[in-house]
Parts: sequence; C-alpha cells; structure tokens
Amino acid sequence: MALSGLDIFKLLPKTNCGDCGVPTCMAFAMKLAQKKAELSECPHASEEAKATLGAASEPPIRLVKIGGQSSLEVGNETVMFRHEKTFYHPTGIAIELRASEGQEKLLPKIKEIEKHKVERVGEELKTDLFFVTQDSQDKKDFLGAINLVKQNSAKGIILYCQDRATLKEALGLLKDDRPAIFLQKELEDADIELAKTNQASLILTAESFEELAAQTEKARSAGLNDLLLNLESKGVGHHLLHNTILRRSALKKNFKPFGYPLFSRIQIKDDFELAANASIFLCKYDSVIVLPRYDKALLYALFTLRQNIYTDPQKPIQVDPKVYPIGDPTPESPVFVTTNFSLTYFIVSGEIENSGLSAHLVVTDTEGQSVLTAWAAGKFVGEKVAKFIKDIKFEQQVKTRKIVIPGFASQISGDLEEHLPGWEVIVGCQEASDIPSFVKKVKLT
Ligand code: SF4
Repeated sequence: MALSGLDIFKLLPKTNCGDCGVPTCMAFAMKLAQKKAELSECPHASEEAKATLGAASEPPIRLVKIGGQSSLEVGNETVMFRHEKTFYHPTGIAIELRASEGQEKLLPKIKEIEKHKVERVGEELKTDLFFVTQDSQDKKDFLGAINLVKQNSAKGIILYCQDRATLKEALGLLKDDRPAIFLQKELEDADIELAKTNQASLILTAESFEELAAQTEKARSAGLNDLLLNLESKGVGHHLLHNTILRRSALKKNFKPFGYPLFSRIQIKDDFELAANASIFLCKYDSVIVLPRYDKALLYALFTLRQNIYTDPQKPIQVDPKVYPIGDPTPESPVFVTTNFSLTYFIVSGEIENSGLSAHLVVTDTEGQSVLTAWAAGKFVGEKVAKFIKDIKFEQQVKTRKIVIPGFASQISGDLEEHLPGWEVIVGCQEASDIPSFVKKVKLT
C-alpha cells in the first residue's frame, strides 16, 4: 500500500539539512509520496528507512539516464493521459547510424545532426541520441563510428552490436558516457555484467509480455535497474496496444517488471508510414524512438508534436510580461498590445517584424493564455491592460498616444479608453497574419 507523506516523514532523519535538494525533510517526504523523488537522494536515510521505503518510494516508471554531460532523462511518468496532470520527460529522438556507411559519409552526417536545432515558441528543439549499429564485417568501422560521434557530439549513444567482444571494446570508449545497450536476443548473465561494469542501461527485447517480465526480473534481481523495454509488435496497432498495457500495468497495477521506460527502433522506409508510426509511438508511450534516417521535415513535425504533448497543460508556455521592442522603435513608434501566451507573442512579434515597422509590443500578464481565452477569463480586459501600462510607467517612455488591440478583443476598446485617458484605442486585425496589410491601411503615427 502506498505510504502517506506523514508516514514517510516519520522514517526520515528530520534534520532538515537540505542535502536532498529540498529545504526540509517534510518537503522531501511529500515529494517521495508523490513519487517525484527517490529515497537515494537523501544521503542520510537509515537502513530501516531504506528497507521500509525502498519499494514504496520507487517511482512507478523508473527514471533512466542515457549519455554523459548532457544526458537524456526518460521515464518517471505518473499518468496515462496528459490532461490528468502532465507528462514529465519528453521522448528522446535518436537517429540511427550504420557502421557500414563508412567514416567519410558518417562524419558530415553526424556534424549536420549535431548542429540541427529548431527554435519554436522560445524553446530550442533538437534530437537527443545516436543509435550506432554494427552492420559491418570489420569491427573497426563500428569503433570508428563511435569515436566520430564522441568527438563531434555531446549526445548520448545507444549501441547495437551482436558480438559481445566488440561491444566490450565499444563500451571501453564510452567510459563516463553512460551509454545504453540494445539487446535483440534473450538476456544472459554476461549482458547484465557488461552493463553493470560500464554503467550502461540495457534495452531489453522480447516477443511476449511473459518473456519481457522474466527478463526484467532477471536483471532486477542481479541489481541492474537501468532498463528500457522493447516489446516487439506486428504493426502499429499491436504496438499501441502493447504500450498501453505496459504503461497501465506499471501505473495502475504497480507491476514492477514493467515499470521502465519504453523503447522503439523504427525501420520503415516509406515516408508517410514512418511519420505516422513515429508520431503514434511518441504520443503513446515510447520514451525513446530511433529513426532510421535523418530527415529535417520529419524531425520538425516530431519536434512540434513532442513539444505540444510534453507541455504542462496547467502551465501554458509563456513569455515575460513587459514591453518588447520590435525593430528599432522611437518614442513616436506605434504601440501594439497582446497577451503573454508564447505562441501569441511569437506570431504577433514576427508579423510586426514582417511588416517592416518598428514598434513597441506591450505584452500583458494573462498567465500564458491566448487573447480570446484570456478575455473570456477576465484576464485581458481594459482595466487590467491600462493598469499594467501605468504600473510599468510606459506612458513616460513614449510620446505616441495610439494603441492597437487585437481584433478578437475589440470588446475591451471602450473600457481601455476609459482607464487610459488621452489614448486612442485602435482595433487591429483578428489574424496576426493580416498585420502587414493592416499597418499599410491604418495611420498609426
Ligand atoms: S537530505 Fe535527508 S535529512 Fe536532509 S533534508 Fe533531505 S530528507 Fe532530510
């Protein structure tokens, strides 16, 4: 039975030393009860506490780290559906590199993947891992590929090599890099030993739930807990079904053998099928997906999807409420106002920039809500917008007395004029994409 925060607190040292990263033992106990921390984070826990709390405090899905300095953390999820709370650790996207491609082809590819980053609503989106496959006759190709990744990238590495001696050599190149080993055969004691000695995670593969549970039990009882699960499926429908059962077993039944992040290596050639499979696996519930090739268009779609799925639904992405200069505004430049929902801010500021106009963009605090939502919730109304402008003493910084409000919030114009005496309120266009034509038609200065 799950222990309450108070039950857990009674077993902690109660010294409030803060070594666990939170200021008090009570706060740490609450985190343990919510399965957002592990007992091992308290270096002073007694043996009695470890024995009693060990199993009870384990998160239902273990947090697994792959990679050295900029490691990827996956797992530690607590809900089936994002709207129940949030998803915490975004799916890691790995690109497969084949040793048989040769170092001449691999080097520019690795460099290109390493520098490929996309900025969207203020966040930098990129791939997370390389999956290096030994498919060459010569082990030097495999070891060379690993060295190339290591020299040109900080991303973590997943190794796929069926020859244990070569794998051992490869792991020797990745000391302190916390790699993962992909196993596509039945787990043996030597695999566990190899992973343990090299601080590597193991990705276990099985054809049935029973076989998978037997393998995880074997690894767990040998003291290896950094595992990912790869249950083979006959098509995307089966995969979805399997992943749902595995996640549900871990979260709802607390079935420990399935309490690990899920993994998929996708080997589809057709572009559409690849995109469809990767999207479905990313949504439900793979923590790492391996793509067979580097494709910028596919990555952009997956980055966007991942960002949307892994944004906390209770905390929309937001920018700081303040005045943003667009271009090179003077005190006479026009003034636009909008909300601090990131997507709104980036679209509106981008379109003002596209219009070639220099302007002041006043971004008010609506707790990250978009214009219509914030207006409906009473967070984007004339009185509040006027108060914000007065609080930041914006009137003293500009000479213009014209302010453009979003077309969808035309209802606030009278209220705003009333609370902002001396200002002319201009109702702007409804769609941000119409800003360039709007500024040509309306005299704003
Ligand atoms: S490290 Fe342990 S003893 Fe110190 S505050 Fe955290 S829970 Fe309490």
